[in-house]
Amino acid sequence: MLTGKERTRHPGSAARPGSIAAFERAKRVIPGGVNSTVRAFKGVGGTPVFIRSAAGCRLTDVDGNSYIDYVMSWGPLILGHAHPAVVEAVRSTAERGTSFGAPTDLESELAEMIVAMVPSAEKVRFCSSGTEATMCALRLARGVTGREKIVKFAGCYHGGTDALLVSAGSSALTIGKPDSAGVTRGTVADTIVVAYNDLDGVRAAFDAHGSAIAALIVEPYAGNMGFVLPQPGFLAGLRELTRAHGALLIFDEVMTGFRVGPGGAQERERILPDVTTLGKIVGGGLPVGAVAGPAAIMDHFTPDGDVFQAGTLSGNPIAMAAGIATLRALGEPGVYARLDAAGARLAEGLDDLFVRHGVPHQSNQRGAMLGFFFTSRPVVDLSGAKASDAAFYAAFFHALLDRGVYFAPSQFEATFVSLAHDDAAIDATIDAAEAALGAIERA
Ligand SMILES: *Cc1c(COP(=O)(O)O)cnc(C)c1O
Repeated sequence: MLTGKERTRHPGSAARPGSIAAFERAKRVIPGGVNSTVRAFKGVGGTPVFIRSAAGCRLTDVDGNSYIDYVMSWGPLILGHAHPAVVEAVRSTAERGTSFGAPTDLESELAEMIVAMVPSAEKVRFCSSGTEATMCALRLARGVTGREKIVKFAGCYHGGTDALLVSAGSSALTIGKPDSAGVTRGTVADTIVVAYNDLDGVRAAFDAHGSAIAALIVEPYAGNMGFVLPQPGFLAGLRELTRAHGALLIFDEVMTGFRVGPGGAQERERILPDVTTLGKIVGGGLPVGAVAGPAAIMDHFTPDGDVFQAGTLSGNPIAMAAGIATLRALGEPGVYARLDAAGARLAEGLDDLFVRHGVPHQSNQRGAMLGFFFTSRPVVDLSGAKASDAAFYAAFFHALLDRGVYFAPSQFEATFVSLAHDDAAIDATIDAAEAALGAIERA
């Protein structure tokens, strides 16, 4: 375990004077210097790296340092940074106008692609973020069922939606504030929190409140408390319980959608939710969120139904074009096999390294999504994830950063590979990790 002093002594920060100056400037006019909490490096200490540009699997910071990136904008960039097809789609679409506030064919085209790929989707409503998607999905579930209660899991993160900011994951967890100030007791009074993978806990919640529960929302693979997989039978159990009690099952696939397979986790696990929330990859790096599901449920949205939903920039043409270009590229033959192979190469390479260095760890991987915990106990829920050695993660993170590898600046986040992560990049990462471990052992 490193001391606090050792943790904040990052030799590489001398190579990043530009980032340090940029952060000082940002902090004067932006709260905490960032526009999304996790970017502030609170989970690992030190100064955030300010980015100048990116291409493929590499970031370049404002000082000209280059990093192999495993954050990939937190998931959207499954094709890699500045993919030529996405850049061209954005450029050519923007030339015809950036926003009309009237419908375009691009929206139908992207919706048709989603319907073709995501097993439970018959209709799609677009918005501009994953947060908005989960907010609308909850409203939809409540409108459809006429019920008010929601079940969520501790450590699952569904964006900044007020009713779901209870025992939240991601940056809320990183900064140790999983419940936000400013969310009224009334707003979360109808939110029931259960431990991930605790089917008995879910059963108890339904036994106690079944006729009042509108929906259960879950990350089918949890990627916001680190990467935690469902135990065998867990998702099937959720499907059974929600159906038996007349509640909707919402799969929040904002992170897993189009990442762990063309049809997301629902396809991989062969469990069909009633409602699916999407984001990240579906916008190809531009702001898009989506709610998808069977027509009988989706038609409850206004204007045909009575569940209000709207957005000035919803279905924005440039964002739609970026999403279309991304999903089209993902439709090429062999793409998911390549993504799986890249994920496995990195996960197995690091796993092997940790074993050789005697570092207690747990690792999980599904396709282009993976994660590590530094603990000797299997991690199936938030309490297990919290047992991971945060100081060791921080030391590993900084030792890698100093060697040109950018992992998530928090142990409570997943690691993402893209089609741009070729064998050479992954092998260079494993070499850097070996050197990083060596440096930590010497310290
Ligand atoms: C990222 C994420 C969200 C929130 O999406 P934003 O676009 O950041 O609002 C919601 N749910 C899950 C599972 C996510 O990973």
